[in-house]
Amino acid sequence: DILINQIAAGEVVERPASVVKELVENALDAGASRVDIDLEEGGVRLIRIRDNGGGIGADQLALAVSRHATSKIASLDDLEGVATLGFRGEALPSIASVSRFALSSRHADNEHGHVLEVDGGRVGEVMPKSHPQGTTVEVRDLFFNTPARRKFLRAERTELGHIEEWLRQLALARPDVELRVTHNGKPSRRWKGEGSLLDGAALSDTRINETLGEEFGRNALRVDHAAAGLRLHGWIAQPAYNRASTDQQYLFVNGRAVRDRSVAHAVKQAYSDVLFHGRHPAYVLFLELDPRRVDVNVHPAKHEVRFRDARLIHDFVYRTLHEALAGTRA
Ligand code: ADP
Ligand code: MG
Repeated sequence: DILINQIAAGEVVERPASVVKELVENALDAGASRVDIDLEEGGVRLIRIRDNGGGIGADQLALAVSRHATSKIASLDDLEGVATLGFRGEALPSIASVSRFALSSRHADNEHGHVLEVDGGRVGEVMPKSHPQGTTVEVRDLFFNTPARRKFLRAERTELGHIEEWLRQLALARPDVELRVTHNGKPSRRWKGEGSLLDGAALSDTRINETLGEEFGRNALRVDHAAAGLRLHGWIAQPAYNRASTDQQYLFVNGRAVRDRSVAHAVKQAYSDVLFHGRHPAYVLFLELDPRRVDVNVHPAKHEVRFRDARLIHDFVYRTLHEALAGTRA
């Protein structure tokens, strides 16, 4: 079983950034409004994620670290319309099989907290431990027991860079969540929470500026258009702020950061048809649609999606941006 988890870890856990992603997504699935992220040595030495979500009951801790145990799907029907970020039930067992791992939590209904430690996949006993409502996951010494994988880790700076890049995506996707990040014991980033997503709290200019810089903010054009059950909203930078690379191209589909060639192509095409040839547009765009029209179960790391009607979506994105950009041309 440890071996199976380690093999699965090869797919789910590429580097510290993938661990941070899986754990923070779990915190968000648990309804957290605040997530603290403590890192040491680019996350290789330590990743500690603490949330104020619903927590895990003492009797559920062992289940949470066992393979294909997810509390998020009850039937195949759910798998079709999956709206939560995690759903495969393999992140925790995979991560715990290649690290020194501790899961501490107190469920909203429980008076006391508990901890379960897993050392390189060997699961210990559930023990009492005081903990506020919510969950803390600690991952120490990633890949300590899989030297072949450890060898592929890069310098502290590089690994930290990957984590920060993912945190930027998160900060853009979830303005409602407060995020605090420390590295080697020093505060490194902090984003305040900005109300509830359900109230329609969109990303504020403040958070855009904090995340992508004020120059992006000054040059960005707001977009918001809905038709045929599709909505596209966000910002696209005008040509004064075009980029030499694709480093500031953020696309979120139903809140999930993804790379999609077809949508990226539609944006680039609209941009170059209206305004500019060459170089790359910078953008933060949110596409929202019925979850049943998009398959997120394409790759375990979940960077990609498959649209049921890709052509329609391509054209919708193209036309929306073409119109918005054309309006600024005069
Ligand atoms: P998945 O997210 O695909 O369900 P994971 O292995 O990431 O699988 O997590 C397993 C289970 O552990 C989750 O379904 C959830 O019930 C529980 N869990 C993990 N992290 C948290 C958390 N931060 N807060 C509450 N429950 C959690
Ligand atoms: Mg998960």
